[in-house]
Amino acid sequence: MAITKVWLDESENECTMCGACEAVCEAVFEVPEKMVVKEGADFAANEEGIKEAADSCPVATIAYALDGSETRAN
Ligand code: SF4
Repeated sequence: MAITKVWLDESENECTMCGACEAVCEAVFEVPEKMVVKEGADFAANEEGIKEAADSCPVATIAYALDGSETRAN
């Protein structure tokens, strides 16, 4: 099950701009204001970091999907 999409999901909570995701996985996330997924980020090479960042986010706004799905997997 490969991560093929990562995005900011503010359907329930707003990103607090805490920077935790960037600290955990700077190859994928940056927080200039609210979190953005870096252009061209290599999701396959950073799967553990993406999952750890999603788990670390205090407001659960980091979403990812697996295997081409558009559905949030976490
Ligand atoms: S860890 Fe979550 S709340 Fe903090 S900057 Fe990243 S997306 Fe936003």
